[in-house]
Amino acid sequence: MTKRLNFTAVFIFIILFCAMTGQTVDAATNTTDVNLVINNKQVSADVMPFIQNDRTLVPARAVFESLGGTVKWDQDSYTVTVKYDTTTVILKINDKTATVNGKKKTLDVPAIIKNERTVIPVRFVAEELGFRVGWIDSSRTVTISSAGDPEVKPEIKGNITAVSLKEGNSKKENTIVTIELSEAIKSSEGYVTTMLTTPNRFVLDVKNFLADSQVSDLTYNQKSSPLTAVRTAAYSENTARVVCDLKEASTPVVSLSADGKTLKVAFKTLSTYFNPMEDGKLVVVLDPGHGSSTAGKRSPQGILREYEFNRAVANKMKRYLEAEGVEVILTVEDDSDPSLANRCAEANNSDGDIFVSIHANAFGNGDEWTSANGWEIYHYEGSVLSNQLATAIADANFPGIGIRNRGVKTGNLYVIKNTNMPAVLIEHGFYTNLEEIELLKSDEWRDKVARYNADGIVKFLKSHSE
Ligand SMILES: [Zn+2]
Repeated sequence: MTKRLNFTAVFIFIILFCAMTGQTVDAATNTTDVNLVINNKQVSADVMPFIQNDRTLVPARAVFESLGGTVKWDQDSYTVTVKYDTTTVILKINDKTATVNGKKKTLDVPAIIKNERTVIPVRFVAEELGFRVGWIDSSRTVTISSAGDPEVKPEIKGNITAVSLKEGNSKKENTIVTIELSEAIKSSEGYVTTMLTTPNRFVLDVKNFLADSQVSDLTYNQKSSPLTAVRTAAYSENTARVVCDLKEASTPVVSLSADGKTLKVAFKTLSTYFNPMEDGKLVVVLDPGHGSSTAGKRSPQGILREYEFNRAVANKMKRYLEAEGVEVILTVEDDSDPSLANRCAEANNSDGDIFVSIHANAFGNGDEWTSANGWEIYHYEGSVLSNQLATAIADANFPGIGIRNRGVKTGNLYVIKNTNMPAVLIEHGFYTNLEEIELLKSDEWRDKVARYNADGIVKFLKSHSE
C-alpha cells in the first residue's frame, strides 16, 4: 500500500471490501451494516451492528461490556446472559422468547450467531436494562447511552463514506485527496481546516458527521508529493476528522462539489522537490533585461545602456551552459524589450527547468555618479528552490568577481514571481558607479561573471539530477 502504482489495487480492494462486508443492502440476507455510538463515542467491533427485519442487532459482548454490564455465554444451553445493575436478561440463540429477571417476554427477532459472535436485538435488551437507545437515520447510526447520562442527541447529519487519493496533473494539484459524504454540507459551515506542526499535518473536520467504520487509512509514497498518509476517524462524538500527514507545512486548496457531497483537497508539489532531468534534458531560460530603447536604464553621460551588458552576459552564459550539455532558451534574441508578462509566458510555455534574469543596477537620478555598489541576486520569498539556485550562483561568483557582495535577497519582482520554475534575478553591479561601470563595460569581466553564473547554475541543476 505504499507505492503509488498500488493505489488502483487498493481502491478496488476497498470496493470489494465494502461489497463483502455489506456496506450496501445485501439482498440475500436483507441486512445493512450500521454505525454504533455508545455514550457519545463511536465504537468499532469485529462484527458491526446490522439491521435485520427492521430490528438492529448488535454484538452482545462489545456493546454491553462497554456499557458496564456483564455478558456470559453458555455453550450447553446456547444462551447469552446480559446483566446490568439488578436486571438480568437471558436470550437463547434462534429463540424468540427471552427472560427478564425470570419473566418470559417475546422478541420480534431472536439472538443469532454471526462470525462466532453473539448478536442480539439491541433495543429490547438495552431498554430492559435501563439504557437509552436512539437511531439516526441519515447516518445509519444506533446510539446507546447509560440512563444516568443527560439526553444524548449527537447532532449527526451524515457520514464520511469514502476517502481516496490520486496524483494530480499540475503544479497546483500534485496530490488530490477526495472525501465523499453521505449527506450534502454547506461550504460555509460544514467543515473546518487546520494546519498542525511537529509533525506537520493538515486536518479537515466535518462537523456533525461521523467517519464510516469502513473508511481505510491510506499511505502514499511519491517523491514529489508533500503527503505521506491520510487517516480518517471520529474526532469526537459529532465530528469526523481527516488527517493528512505531510513532509512539510503545505496548505492545500479545499473545494466542495456543487452537490455538497464531495470535498476535494489539492496539495501543491513538495517545495523541495525538483527533478529537472525528468524529461531527459536540462533547460535554462535566460532573460536579458530591457531593450535598446527602454527609457532610463543607461549610465550617466550615456556611456552604457543596461540592455547591452545584459545581452552580452546572457550570450556568454549560453555558450558556457551549452558546453556543459545544458539547453538554453533566451526570452529575447534581439534588442527589443518584450513585456515582463511576455518574458514570463515565454519561460512558462517552454521546457525550461529554471529562469535566470540578467541585469545591472542603478542608483540615483541617473544623471550623476553615485557611490552605491556591489552584486546582488533576488528570488521570490518562500521559494526554497529559488533560494538554493540564488545561493549556488552567489557562491560561484564570490570572491572571484572582485566586487562587494550585497547578498542573496528576496524581492517581489515580476519575473521571479510569475515564472512557475525556480527563478532568480541577478544585478551585476552598478552602472551608476564610476568604478563598477568600467567592469560592466569590460569583455573580460563579462566573460568571467558569465562563467561563474553558468558554474553556479550547473552545480544547482546537477545537485537535483541524481
Ligand atoms: Zn535592469
